[in-house]
Amino acid sequence: MATDYDAPRKTEEELSEDSIEELKSRRNDKNSGKVDEDEAEAAETFELPGADLSHEELTVRVLPRQADEFTCASCYLVKHRSQIATEKDGLFYCVDCV
Ligand SMILES: [Zn+2]
Repeated sequence: MATDYDAPRKTEEELSEDSIEELKSRRNDKNSGKVDEDEAEAAETFELPGADLSHEELTVRVLPRQADEFTCASCYLVKHRSQIATEKDGLFYCVDCV
């Protein structure tokens, strides 16, 4: 009885392994050439909504802090050094916050 169960199991495993190998080789066949064209086409289609995103990025972009500027430790705004009212433990506070 036990051998009856074992026999079909083994063949099943072998079959699934075979089909996986078959799928792999089939995918490799598809990947050779055709998929690259599809991806290029997909990228082109994605350019329209992407244009809006890049526009948003420009608005949100944070400018790098200049050497003559500081970040207020209270309001976290980047201000010119002339706006420094006081310094505490290496932290700067602007005239608006003091
Ligand atoms: Zn401030």
